[in-house]
Amino acid sequence: MLWLVDRAYLATLLHTPLRGRVELLRDTLVVAGDDGAIVSVQAAQDPGVDALIRRFAAAGTLVTLREGQYLLPGLVDLHVHAPQWPQLGLALDLPLEEWLQTHTFPLEARYADANFAATVYASLVDGLLANGTTTAMYFGTIHLEATQILARTCLGKAQRALIGRVAMDDPAQCPAYYRDPSAELAVAETRAFIAYVEAMPGNGRGLIRPVITPRFIPSCSDALLEQLGALAATSGCHVQTHCSESDWEHRFVLDRFGISDTAALEKFGLLSRRTILAHGNLVGDDDLDTIAAHGAGIAHCPLSNVYFSDAVFPLRRVLDRGVHVGLGSDIAGGSSPSILDNARHAVLASRLLESGVDPALARPLRRRPDSRIDALTAFWLATVGGGIALELNVGLFRPGYQFDAMLIDTAAPASNLRIAPSDTPEQILQKILYESGRSNIRDVWVANRHVLGQGTTPAS
Ligand SMILES: [Zn+2]
Repeated sequence: MLWLVDRAYLATLLHTPLRGRVELLRDTLVVAGDDGAIVSVQAAQDPGVDALIRRFAAAGTLVTLREGQYLLPGLVDLHVHAPQWPQLGLALDLPLEEWLQTHTFPLEARYADANFAATVYASLVDGLLANGTTTAMYFGTIHLEATQILARTCLGKAQRALIGRVAMDDPAQCPAYYRDPSAELAVAETRAFIAYVEAMPGNGRGLIRPVITPRFIPSCSDALLEQLGALAATSGCHVQTHCSESDWEHRFVLDRFGISDTAALEKFGLLSRRTILAHGNLVGDDDLDTIAAHGAGIAHCPLSNVYFSDAVFPLRRVLDRGVHVGLGSDIAGGSSPSILDNARHAVLASRLLESGVDPALARPLRRRPDSRIDALTAFWLATVGGGIALELNVGLFRPGYQFDAMLIDTAAPASNLRIAPSDTPEQILQKILYESGRSNIRDVWVANRHVLGQGTTPAS
């Protein structure tokens, strides 16, 4: 079957097969096929591998990493608002409601202009790939055409993407200039978007997937939530929405339905193995059991939470309860497009929760014991955790997994990465997580396609 295989990589690999555990594989050959899947992962000194290396080298399809370069799995971002890319880093001192109404909705309304959408979305996808994000789950806007442009952009640039046309129809919460005129129209356009993505030329392997996307319960009528829940059941598509992000949203749903956000989403048929809930900061233990029972996942967005959530996400409690969790940038609620950045902040947030933040409180009242996570767990969330939450085989160098990868070059210009020969695999991954910047990400591959960078020198 070698004729199907198009590229091999001779490299030092780093990945986290288990939460909190790192595996470093030196001088290892990864062979991946035309379909993007990894065929084999073998030590270079294993019997027969030398002949394989020579064969790929002769064909000009061997990528050889140099000393000081590491191959890591590509990063998974479970929560991105694509239209908010121009707003990154702005207005983060406002409360969520004001941020939405005075900044975010007016910006999102501009995507009625297809040219504006095409320009922004090209910049967004380039920007995320440059930060090592090989899989992204996107909210679009209410505009079908602009969201189709986002899907074409991701496919054209070969970023693995799950994309939703946003549905929001409640006149009490959505401004007149930016809302669906009816539940029926929102559902019809959601159906049209699903059909469009599934029929997109070049998307036969499902690199781009459609997502049913009620913005959040406060912006949707009961009729819309019911119909989108029914569509989720019949289509089998992924679902994304926000859940218990802030005190305001959490209270709003309790007041409207008398049950929690999670319970209401379940009632409308919007919780499944393919659901990703953004944030979940204020979910209770019963909610966590409900989410775990459905196999749904949570997009933990640590940076955005600092600005808008009113609380630190109880990450370790949620993980220990068996809920799938990955990381989200929440562009532009978060100020960084980098999932490595968000991984660092996931560690930071968990430590703040454990130690407490109010010095006026006595230590026992201030702290929440057993809350912190380590850097290896944060990297696991950024790769494997996100893949599991999405039910995608990404995040590991294993046969059958997709070859989505980034090359970390310690010798990049202005690099802060200084790895010593005596460093253990744990120390190397910690340094990469905390100290690498965008310039260290030299090359990126998605589904075994080289999507960013200069490539490395093929062996002769
Ligand atoms: Zn969001």
